[in-house]
Amino acid sequence: MQRRFFSLLLAATVVAAASVLLLSGCAGHPRSPFASADSESVSSADKHSITVFAMDTVMELTVYGSDDVLSKAEDLISSLEKNLSVTDESSEIYAVNQNGGGRVGDDTRDLIAQSLTLCERTGGALDISVYPVVRAWGFTTGEYRVPSGDEITELLTFVDYNAVTISADNTVSLKRGMKIDLGSVAKGYTGDRLAELLTENGVASATLNLGGNVHALGAKPDGSPWKIAITNPLGAGTAGAIQVTDKAVVTSGGYERFFEENGTTYRHIIDPATGYPVDNDLASVSVIGDTGLVCDALSTSLFVMGLDHAIDFWKGSSDFDAVFITTAGQIYITEGLEETFVPLGDYKEADVTVIRHD
Ligand code: ADP
Ligand code: MG
Repeated sequence: MQRRFFSLLLAATVVAAASVLLLSGCAGHPRSPFASADSESVSSADKHSITVFAMDTVMELTVYGSDDVLSKAEDLISSLEKNLSVTDESSEIYAVNQNGGGRVGDDTRDLIAQSLTLCERTGGALDISVYPVVRAWGFTTGEYRVPSGDEITELLTFVDYNAVTISADNTVSLKRGMKIDLGSVAKGYTGDRLAELLTENGVASATLNLGGNVHALGAKPDGSPWKIAITNPLGAGTAGAIQVTDKAVVTSGGYERFFEENGTTYRHIIDPATGYPVDNDLASVSVIGDTGLVCDALSTSLFVMGLDHAIDFWKGSSDFDAVFITTAGQIYITEGLEETFVPLGDYKEADVTVIRHD
């Protein structure tokens, strides 16, 4: 009963999420941003928003207080995108991939270094060197195709994050034929950097929606937590909502970017162990934690792992919570979300299984 009442209260969140969905639809990515921070009940007087299209995503930044910092935020996004893009021929990553290595700036170095730690932590479910395979499937260009088994086997010989090194003077080196792609972590890192910039500029309350990556800075101006909607990965609308203060909420889902050929759907997240798009029991994974980078890396890699392995991974960790939605429409949440998670929409009556540390 109490839970039902709570669901009604949270229904307003869906409205906020839907407006973001509409916005992103205009830019040609109707299903990309799917979680939204809602700001209902906050005075709109000091609320300032900008929409930026970057990193192939519609980004919506909303700050409470002064809006002076928004142009700096936009500049920061542009400069990170310029360095990190795998397709922009003037980016640092592009140069590294063309030349088998080279000097990079501090941002790129930091992100590569931290990503490699996460590749290791996830046992290679995250692998920033999976790019030759991602590219062969056409996921970065939109020229989709199903590579032959022989082609995948050949390309997998270039996939090994252990062979990526960075020296003290910011020089990256790759093994011959390797190429790296920070697409699985760039938005999370950008969210962290933006949150840092806003904090330095005196902003205590903000929501940064970077297309599926939400960074909630502080609490709402009235001190209450932000409500973040989690999109239904199997249909329309919202599957649920959580409440957070000062957290990143990052979702990876098979529905974000995919193509179909001969009745088979191929999704944009690749299992580096096989070279094939992930096709397991998960429809989406949302990861909630203090850093966007970690959440982004883990949402991608837990999606690769599948439900059982992802649950084991969570049990061995202490720095995040997660919402798993399976292809069968079941919802699993980790125990830290038990108090605030509410199923919504098609999932309103769904059983929610709480995963606990043993
Ligand atoms: P999105 O950026 O679309 O929200 P993700 O954060 O899950 O989604 O990142 C997916 C992107 O990361 C893919 O488009 C591809 O470029 C790259 N990628 C795919 N599979 C992997 C993987 N196993 N490890 C690292 N990067 C991957
Ligand atoms: Mg990711």
